[in-house]
Amino acid sequence: AQVGPRSKEAFRRASCVFPDGTTRATIERDPLPRYVSHGSGAYVFDADGRKFLDLNANFTTLIHGHAFGPVVSALERQLRDGTCFANPTEREIELAELICERVPAIERIRFCNTGTEAVMFAIKAARAWTGRPAIAKIEGAYHGAYDWVEVSQSSGPSTWGTPAEPQSVAYYKGQPASVLDEVVPLRFNDVQGAVDRIERNAHSLAAIVIDPMPSRAGLIAPDAEFVAAIQSTARAHNILIISDEVLNFRQGFAGASARYGLQPDLYTLGKIIGGGLPIGAIAGRASVMSMFDAGQSRAAVPQGGTFSANPMSMTAGLIAMQNLDHAAFARLERLGDLLRSRLMQSIERWQIAFSVTGAASLFRIHPKRRPPRDFREAFWSPSEAAIMTEMTRYFATAGIILPNGAAACLSTPMQDGDVDLIGQVFENFLSDVAQSFEW
Ligand code: PMP
Repeated sequence: AQVGPRSKEAFRRASCVFPDGTTRATIERDPLPRYVSHGSGAYVFDADGRKFLDLNANFTTLIHGHAFGPVVSALERQLRDGTCFANPTEREIELAELICERVPAIERIRFCNTGTEAVMFAIKAARAWTGRPAIAKIEGAYHGAYDWVEVSQSSGPSTWGTPAEPQSVAYYKGQPASVLDEVVPLRFNDVQGAVDRIERNAHSLAAIVIDPMPSRAGLIAPDAEFVAAIQSTARAHNILIISDEVLNFRQGFAGASARYGLQPDLYTLGKIIGGGLPIGAIAGRASVMSMFDAGQSRAAVPQGGTFSANPMSMTAGLIAMQNLDHAAFARLERLGDLLRSRLMQSIERWQIAFSVTGAASLFRIHPKRRPPRDFREAFWSPSEAAIMTEMTRYFATAGIILPNGAAACLSTPMQDGDVDLIGQVFENFLSDVAQSFEW
């Protein structure tokens, strides 16, 4: 979409210092990124003074929107008291207690700075606990930048292998073959395929890493039978289940596993639990978490970091989570249901090849007549990618940032009127643009 002169000038300068002009692979751009000057509540303002309803919210992090008042006030105080220490602070205990109270399966927790780190440490703990090296993961699912979870993520049909034998696909040039050999890709919602592949590789599997509703793989709900099959097969072979809820912890008071009946040994958390500041966490059963316990000597898996549990992130996270009570979750759930049904009514009215997935405060629009059931079905052809780009542009022109290919989300400052607006812009897009497109 068109960006203004300030963003263009910023990008020109950025291109002199960053490879491809950006410093994050995942940044939204078309083809240039829009530079932001500030955010407030549900809105962001770009460098050229345009205002947008923000359905990206830093990739679903900002569940209370931008510059949430209670977090800002608490951070102002913490800023004056110091931003990081080589000592623990009491704030980290408060945030840990809140999470342990909300999720009964979380008995112990460790903080780090990103979801990537959380996933990395959880996998290391699973290896230490089981004495096995490999992991299974869902094809197409995104779990951050640890080599093993980067496998089989975003490449196209020619690389996938047959439905019965999904291949380990490299994500970056030079990714070691030994890493590819230590990952077993599973197709989401394919009960028999997943069980067969887990059983065949059980001797080497430390963990199954699973996001209950993997956003990049389609933001598709897990079938109850799939969850049950993964669970019982893992248990039968002493393979740990790591539920990656960095994104989906926002699906409810006790997170996504509670919602879908998964009983993980370990959780990885991030995004919302930092209240807008950098965070990650590894959490779960006390027995498995003891892999991080140094006791009198050295931990099985040493885990730390210069900024881990820094009091700024702990404070922002604590205040944000305290403000996410049952009522807040119920309200987000209602707004999400309302929005998804509005979008589906428009699709129905226009009899057009779109579908909607998601749950709670999350949604994704697919250029597909039937809602996809896994990454392969959700994958876009070039013409499908083209219509999605058109849609993102149309929304931007109407003052709404709609993520293209990632999960879109609602936040607590949004009202019914915002849902109406999103629904109306989608309806207009179908009547003005999508009608004349073939994909
Ligand atoms: N796991 C999941 C499910 C995620 O959505 C993300 C980030 N989008 C990560 C891990 C990585 O988190 P971070 O970007 O904080 O490293």
